[in-house]
Amino acid sequence: MKIIMLGAPGAGKGTQAKMISEKYGIPHISTGDIFRANIKEGTELGKEAKSYMDAGKLVPDELTVRILLDRVAKEDCRDGYVLDGFPRTIPQAEVLDEELKKKGDQVDRAINVDVPDENIVGRMSGRRACLKCGATYHIEHLPPKKEGICDACGSELVLRDDDKPETVKKRLSVYHEQTQPLIEYYEGKQILCTVDGTKDAREVFAAIERNL
Ligand code: AMP
Repeated sequence: MKIIMLGAPGAGKGTQAKMISEKYGIPHISTGDIFRANIKEGTELGKEAKSYMDAGKLVPDELTVRILLDRVAKEDCRDGYVLDGFPRTIPQAEVLDEELKKKGDQVDRAINVDVPDENIVGRMSGRRACLKCGATYHIEHLPPKKEGICDACGSELVLRDDDKPETVKKRLSVYHEQTQPLIEYYEGKQILCTVDGTKDAREVFAAIERNL
């Protein structure tokens, strides 16, 4: 099963992607996580991506598509995957479709986690991330067991630079301009389902399960 998660930054698509990955036994692939891992390791890719990410902009398609196609070519993706944060532009979606088509394959479902802009800024300022293992939390909706500490690996949790309010506003405008058109794109392919992302994470997941 090949699933795509759509939604504004902070809509909770990462949390849902993780739940889907666990339930269906398919890898959760986040291009944002891949970029952050590269930044941490100080690779050339990381250096290039960081300047765009810190400004709230998208990393150029060419670079993003290359790292995504490398990742989905790996053995663990043979039976499918859930993509979180890719595609983010129509050209990215088209490249993915073309690559899958070459193998007689296609995306099965695009899940749009719908949250109005008004809710996003507040949500993101409460978000906390573990820079070591990539886990994310929310101080109100999904708190770690011990304040400021990652449940999974015990490292310190931080507010990511790109979750700061100024950057969030920029990311939202980029989302509306470049990513939102994908909703219509997948609707046209009749594989879109939209769920209400303002609900509790478990309720959102139940709605997704009904659609898969
Ligand atoms: P995320 O963790 O998915 O919110 O991604 C964090 C940042 O990484 C984004 O704001 C972009 O700068 C960059 N990024 C992640 N995925 C993509 C993508 N598919 N295309 C372009 N930039 C991306």
